[in-house]
Amino acid sequence: MEVNVEGDLMEKLVTLCKRRGFIFQSSEIYGGYNGFWDYGPYGVMLKRAVEQTWWKYMIEERDNVVGLDSTIICHPKVWKASGHVDRFGDIMCDCKDCKTRHRVDQMEDPTTCSNCGSKNLTEPREFNLMMKTHVGPVSDDDHIAYLRAESCQPIFIDFHQIRIATRKQLPFGIAQIGKAFRNEITPRMFTFRSREFTQMEMEFFVSDEESMEWYNFWKAERRRFYKDVLQFPDEMLQFHDHDKLAHYAKAAVDIEFKFPFGWGELEGIHHRGTWDMSRHQEFSCENQEYLDQKTNKKYLPTVVETSVGCDRMILAILCNAYAEDKAPTNKEGMEDDVRIVLRFPAIIAPVQVAVMPLSKKLNDKAEELARKLSRFYRTECDVTGNIGKRYRRQDEIGTPYCVTYDFESENDNAVTVRDRDTMEQERVPIADLKQYFDKKLYNW
Ligand code: ATP
Repeated sequence: MEVNVEGDLMEKLVTLCKRRGFIFQSSEIYGGYNGFWDYGPYGVMLKRAVEQTWWKYMIEERDNVVGLDSTIICHPKVWKASGHVDRFGDIMCDCKDCKTRHRVDQMEDPTTCSNCGSKNLTEPREFNLMMKTHVGPVSDDDHIAYLRAESCQPIFIDFHQIRIATRKQLPFGIAQIGKAFRNEITPRMFTFRSREFTQMEMEFFVSDEESMEWYNFWKAERRRFYKDVLQFPDEMLQFHDHDKLAHYAKAAVDIEFKFPFGWGELEGIHHRGTWDMSRHQEFSCENQEYLDQKTNKKYLPTVVETSVGCDRMILAILCNAYAEDKAPTNKEGMEDDVRIVLRFPAIIAPVQVAVMPLSKKLNDKAEELARKLSRFYRTECDVTGNIGKRYRRQDEIGTPYCVTYDFESENDNAVTVRDRDTMEQERVPIADLKQYFDKKLYNW
């Protein structure tokens, strides 16, 4: 029976993530570093699985989107052209008393410090969010370079290289997963607003005439991803059309998730017009036009973008997965009957199958079985503690299936498979496990 999650869900998640090694603050032994987060063993498995799932959905299952892995640092002129060097900033002010720095657009009352209530604030001023470094042996202004503030700019500048190499014709897209860096003034809400984060972006290049059709196509595709793949309930998502559009854009929408702290942007789908290509044409002095073979006309491609933060997506997945359950007392040999369970969709669960020997004497056999399964599924062999405790541990990290190897297994060549959500158990021949899990995990 599901019970209401009592107390602050964010606090519970942060604690669980640290305790089970999903996500914790970077550089903790030095007091932590605000806005930077490390993904521990289960966290990185979850993150890889989310990235792979997105990659498969956006690239591998289509023939009109290709991938890219570009550098984090590229020519500084890229960021001049994109407008980030001159304009990528937030207006901020400091509290002179408690020294808290605020983004003015996020302050409930821009004349009062939300931390200490003081009215003693500095004048609002622009703050550039680009992170700087120097390339080469001389650290002067002529050698400044930027860590990319978004992963999409390299896609625009590589467009023609990729088009020629792949012989793709419009419409087609280029996607990449990679780190982005922003010197956020107020990193907060766990990983929601970080200074180093991973973006998963796809730029779809089309003719202007077809652009709105593709914009609507991608809007529907991204909705399908959240609903069918991540299994987010409808009421947790909202599509918020932008009221004010950039001068070059025909449409833009934010996909928002209902986080415990309120609705927050998860993904943006943007019609970017020919803005990016025209800016890079202007700054590089290289013609960026495309010759349409059907019409024999040359034009700058229009871009439709889908851009999501992987870390925000993971935070939403964790919020959606977290549950506290009332397990029937003692059904699994446990005294405490409220269990914490992360109900991840099986496709992204960090561990998909946990193999457990019932007794130490069976460790070798269980480990051998786990090794075999690990070729196909994210598998771990869990050998310590009583079986009830091991189930609870696996529930907490969201493992959808636990396989118990017991003494009977020696005779009947079968194991007991326990389902995380129903806690039902069934006996499955070892020889059928591959088929069984393919069906359960991948509907295959
Ligand atoms: P916000 O308004 O929240 O600052 P944004 O509109 O600046 O976000 P975009 O520039 O459109 O965001 O970036 C695309 C996606 O990258 C966002 O939808 C979000 O998922 C993610 N993202 C942006 N900034 C951060 C950040 N500081 N930390 C984590 N993810 C981020």
